[in-house]
Amino acid sequence: MKTTLVMLAIMSAPIFCLALQQSAVTPQGTRGPVLVDVNDSDAFFQTATLAPFPARDNKRRVEALLPRMTLEEKVGQMTQLEIGMVTTGKDQDIQIDPAKLEKAVVKYGAGSILNVKDQALPVEKWHDIIRKIQEASQRTRLKIPVIYGIDSIHGANYERGSTLYPQEIGMAATWNPFLMQRLAEITAVETRAAGIPWTFSPVLDLGRQPLWPRFYETFGEDPYLAKVLGAAFVRGIEGDDISSPNHVATSLKHYMGYSFPLNGRDRTSAWVPENYLREYFMPTFAAAIKAGARSVMVNSGEINGIPGHINHHILTDILRGELGFRGVVVSDWEDIKKLVSQWKVAVDEKEATRLAIMAGIDMSMVPSGYSFSDLLVQLVKEGRVPMSRIDEALRRILRLKFDLGLFENPTLSAPMTSFGTGESRQISLQAARESMTLLKNENSLLPLAKDRKVLVTGPTANSLISLNNGWTYVWQGDKAELYPKDRPTILQAMQAQIGKNITYIPGSTLDKEIDIQAAVRSAREADVAVVCLGEGSYAETPGNITDLTLGEAQLRLAEAIEATGKPVVLVLVEGRPRVINRIVDRAQAILMAYNPSNEGGTAVADVLFGDYNPSGKLPFTYPRTANGFITYDHKLFETEETSFGNMAFKPQFEFGHGLSYTTFTYSNLKLAQKAMTVNGQMNVSVTLTNSGQRAGKETVILYVRDVVATVAPPGKRVKRFAKVYLEPGQSRALTFTLRRDDLSFIGADLKPTVEPGDFEVFVGNLKEKFTLEAAPGHAHRRGQRQTRK
Ligand code: BGC
Repeated sequence: MKTTLVMLAIMSAPIFCLALQQSAVTPQGTRGPVLVDVNDSDAFFQTATLAPFPARDNKRRVEALLPRMTLEEKVGQMTQLEIGMVTTGKDQDIQIDPAKLEKAVVKYGAGSILNVKDQALPVEKWHDIIRKIQEASQRTRLKIPVIYGIDSIHGANYERGSTLYPQEIGMAATWNPFLMQRLAEITAVETRAAGIPWTFSPVLDLGRQPLWPRFYETFGEDPYLAKVLGAAFVRGIEGDDISSPNHVATSLKHYMGYSFPLNGRDRTSAWVPENYLREYFMPTFAAAIKAGARSVMVNSGEINGIPGHINHHILTDILRGELGFRGVVVSDWEDIKKLVSQWKVAVDEKEATRLAIMAGIDMSMVPSGYSFSDLLVQLVKEGRVPMSRIDEALRRILRLKFDLGLFENPTLSAPMTSFGTGESRQISLQAARESMTLLKNENSLLPLAKDRKVLVTGPTANSLISLNNGWTYVWQGDKAELYPKDRPTILQAMQAQIGKNITYIPGSTLDKEIDIQAAVRSAREADVAVVCLGEGSYAETPGNITDLTLGEAQLRLAEAIEATGKPVVLVLVEGRPRVINRIVDRAQAILMAYNPSNEGGTAVADVLFGDYNPSGKLPFTYPRTANGFITYDHKLFETEETSFGNMAFKPQFEFGHGLSYTTFTYSNLKLAQKAMTVNGQMNVSVTLTNSGQRAGKETVILYVRDVVATVAPPGKRVKRFAKVYLEPGQSRALTFTLRRDDLSFIGADLKPTVEPGDFEVFVGNLKEKFTLEAAPGHAHRRGQRQTRK
């Protein structure tokens, strides 16, 4: 089994420098999977974005089919309906309704169906549903298969028994694109095991607005980290050939700028000037498109007053013209109708349909009703939408279906032997462990000796729901009965380790006190208290909040336990950084767990008791106050000390922060030259030493600062990283290569711009400086831009 993994690693990442290691022996005495370190994020990225698109050329087949289609058949292919349009029944008992199916697939010729209605189905049931849908598709005149799409967000979460893994925010904390790629591969296999060929993931929105209820679905605040992990995700899901039963098509979402609502609420307005849109929110999409992504889902909000779904500039000029995207653009849920009901940019649905299709939507996630198909047929007949636009959308949709192999086998499935395997579960556990981020550890309180008497308290201590958050079995993730019985909560995993030395008193729910005094009494009897706080589950708009501060009941519980004077460990199980400044100082240790999923209870216990040495690093800036949203890559003047004394940058925990049970020392930061030309490159080397007593992993992060630029430059930005495993006393020299693109920014003219001048490089606590010189023959001075198309 281990050999297979190593082989897979080597096959999927041929040019990496690989370092292999056995994982720690787990408490159960079994060994975990082999790990692979990423010694240079750039090497990984270059490999991940070398994807061919497509592996097979189905153009001729598309061109042969298209002229045979009627207008109604074409519009049917552009229609995506939700599963309730072809089923009856509720919850676990849904069944295909033959009359509904006939109407949707045979009469209207719907080209796509999506999702589930609040249930996770066993794979066998999925087979039955997909088979019946495809049988209906084969009763249509041209026998075009339906493409079924589903939200496999952190694993194939709508399939019972699938392998779930940490939500993207936790995956970002691993800084390990290799793990991301492996888990995406597993997700692809398990999604396809149900006969489903298309997932609506990854989320490539940047998490720069922590109030936003979809923050946990993001890879955090940094564009570089998110783009490396996003490319890894796409490679894992799609592989080299999406007609393989081991792969499915991705949908990058939500293109673009969705994650930055001014007021923090889902599906509201973002104000993002285009140069910043390009600087921060576009690189993840551009990289994933380069990695071969087959479809894109549209921003359900609006930017600068223009709803995503009618933004021709973004959906067509940029996406097609600049990024060269050749796949399908699918709308988000009911978003054409919302142009009328919510955004008020169209007087009726017909006009909304025209605006959206002309802006570049190829397929409408209608998802309930047939008005879209009827209206679009009318619009074409009236000459208000040209047939050429319909044909353009059809070419993309048909090609996706051909490329997925659906015409050969509409129910193509991965074998059940690859579904929910023990090996996949181990990789999920590994990701959960690598995501654990130790934020504080005063006087080395952690790891805890196993003979200590421990009080466990708090609302997230005994909850698989909190460990998972939304998109888990059901949309909101809130149906306890659907969760597996054999995955331990934090409490259960700790009990498995130290048994009766644990006392558990809930203390409070997420928002109400239960019996804080009982918890206080137990704390007095214990050697240490582990207080598990955070959030429940939520997805999208239901997760809106107006205050980032952690709930009062939880803060009071923690304060009361801290007041006993016993050592306190806070464990944070949350999808966004809830403000905890009232309880930080008196807690000796704080562990950020994010939403690590079903293996997360084990991962937390492994870190608390020292069976795993934590290595996660924060992929966002943890705010100290409810209004203190400043990202790590802010402009220096935003936090300059002034005589007023109120400008300091004091986040609760900085981006990139994360402690280990060992210590790492950085030395010998060296630049190969003092200067680099615009078209040259700069090698940066540094030595990392494990100067502590334990083996461990460290993520080395290289930041660059452009000292002076015509668009006010950020204080620093991530440009490279490496995740390295070292035994105590061991050192490793790392070399990173910076190129022109790493030194460029989006100029006021919206073009990538490099300006000669000084640059600073930061790694660990070290700093160096070099000068970027104009290309020979160009006597550019600072401020005179060299732009590129
Ligand atoms: C979400 C998308 C999701 C879609 C289908 C929408 O509400 O915004 O992310 O893919 O529903 O479930």
